Amino acid sequence: MDEALRKTLHRDTLAVREAVERSPFGENSEALYLTSGYVQPSAESGALRFAGDEEGFTYGRYGNPTTASFEQRLAALEGAEACMATASGMSAILMMCLGLLKAGDHVVCSQSMFGSTIKLIGGDLAKFGVESSFVPQSDVAAWKAAIKPDTRLLFAETPTNPLTEVCDIAALADLAHNAGALLCVDNCFATPALQRPIALGADIVMHSGTKYLDGQGRVMAGALCASQALVTGKFLPVLRSAGMTLSPFNAWVVLKGLETLDIRMRAQSDNALALAKWLEALPSVARVYHPSLTSHPQHELAMKQQSGVGGAVLSFEVKASSPEQARQRAFHVLDALRVLSLSTNLGDTKTLCAHPASTSHGRLSEAQRQAAGVGQGLIRVAVGLEHITDIQADLARGLDTLP
Ligand SMILES: *Cc1c(COP(=O)(O)O)cnc(C)c1O
Repeated sequence: MDEALRKTLHRDTLAVREAVERSPFGENSEALYLTSGYVQPSAESGALRFAGDEEGFTYGRYGNPTTASFEQRLAALEGAEACMATASGMSAILMMCLGLLKAGDHVVCSQSMFGSTIKLIGGDLAKFGVESSFVPQSDVAAWKAAIKPDTRLLFAETPTNPLTEVCDIAALADLAHNAGALLCVDNCFATPALQRPIALGADIVMHSGTKYLDGQGRVMAGALCASQALVTGKFLPVLRSAGMTLSPFNAWVVLKGLETLDIRMRAQSDNALALAKWLEALPSVARVYHPSLTSHPQHELAMKQQSGVGGAVLSFEVKASSPEQARQRAFHVLDALRVLSLSTNLGDTKTLCAHPASTSHGRLSEAQRQAAGVGQGLIRVAVGLEHITDIQADLARGLDTLP
């Protein structure tokens, strides 16, 4: 497609059309290229391609046409110049950190980040001399106070798991840039269908393609979207030497997932809001967390930042008089499910229910869990595409018969 025409197309169109050129066979659905190597047209071309001075694929660790289609399509949806795919969301974070940081550099993160992100940055990278501070998600002053002369990166995730806390992307971008640092946003929960951090000033968008981008719970994938300079200058060299390469098969699956991302996110968010309102009215439920509820502490910011849509994840607390009873009641609700899945994943068309205190947050001490706001009665629901009445009925099985 020529560049002038491409520039006139809307995001919805690019979500189904953006890809590398068709092969001479004229396939309508993008081809799945399973090859680890590429035949070079000449020794001279091979040399130029390896040096990065000529377009063309050389070896499967650094690039693949199917993966390139996924990268181009995701970059178009995020409004980014470029994108680099990785084997998983966590390997995207590793690629970013290896590309941007060295011993002595400092990172500021939200303390409500995904658990493995906290372990990777606060634990594994600390072994190599990278320092980090973890601050309350929505407290811009705390982010500012944590910045030091060696701060190179601010890393936020919004909304967070499992309490859907929201941070102000534009405010954090200003803080980062005033300090000469970059802002990365983990856009897993909102996806580019609802939230485009680069338009709000973020430098890097990180994705776990495993979640809503695939959207049907099939494959692992990850990606970083950023400027061309960051992608080719900082991330590609890490991919070449460290090899956190996305499998072309997985890239193809997620590429197809992107075609329905927008309608899935909207339909699942509608279901989530309906479920949140229903739960909020139940006498057995103490509290519901979802950005579309007016009771959400950052409701207005979330609506502004997320195109007026709250997302498909909510959490709720079962009413109880002690942590022991809360845990027993939450387990009762989860064990009574007959349609929805008891599963810690999210981003599927099937509704997934989880008990964060004993799973994703199970490695934390009770004090850390309290600080994260994850009580024993908390249940997270990643709402799918089932009929809302069936979702409610399945949760009511346990909620109506609490021990
Ligand atoms: C799942 C997840 C990740 C990690 O992604 P993987 O693909 O599982 O490696 C990172 N951030 C958030 C918010 C996630 O939900």
